[in-house]
Amino acid sequence: STFDALGLSPKLTKGLEKAGYTTPTPIQTQAIPHIMQGRDLMGLAQTGTGKTAAFGLPLLHRLLDIGHPPGPRNVRALILAPTRELVSQISDNLEVFTKGTPVKVVTITGGASIFRQSEKLARGADVLVATPGRLIDLLDRNALTLEMTGYLVLDEADQMLDMGFIHALKKIAKHLPMKRQTLLFSATMPKLIEDLAQTYLRDPIKVQV
Ligand code: AMP
Repeated sequence: STFDALGLSPKLTKGLEKAGYTTPTPIQTQAIPHIMQGRDLMGLAQTGTGKTAAFGLPLLHRLLDIGHPPGPRNVRALILAPTRELVSQISDNLEVFTKGTPVKVVTITGGASIFRQSEKLARGADVLVATPGRLIDLLDRNALTLEMTGYLVLDEADQMLDMGFIHALKKIAKHLPMKRQTLLFSATMPKLIEDLAQTYLRDPIKVQV
């Protein structure tokens, strides 16, 4: 398929057509090759443009290469999103892509049992999709460590700032290693988002759809 042409593993692309993904969307065509190369990236894109697959597919491609499960309480890739609804949409998408692969996706949001979430995290996660508030609670309880987390995605970054998550984001970022790949997606690019990118991204590629 045309997704193969972007360099993605057949393990990921073989399920795409069945799931209704025939041709990559503009954000996918523009972003995937850069993310595969390990570049930081800033994407100006609305929901509905296919941005979840734009960051999800190359991320999973890299995680599939590892070949062994994450250690206890370890997280390989962290995706932060502002709301429960968005977290669940992202993880639903990722579940479609990871079907038939050993990649383990864990979802953490407020409102669900923090005890059950700690139990899930104890076994480690390849990908953790979370809202910032609940993640802070779990970090404070030492339910997980982000010391080995090599990938950070900030989705709907403008909405996260609007919802007052800036301090949570700063606190979470302190737990991550400096050497990592960071991807930021936002529907708008006000000065505050530019500042956030300046602080947390290294020489980012900018894509806009
Ligand atoms: P998103 O912008 O990531 O929320 O995606 C919006 C919707 O488009 C989701 O339902 C995706 O499953 C779908 N989608 C994303 N990429 C493609 C594609 N290349 N072809 C068809 N549908 C897609």
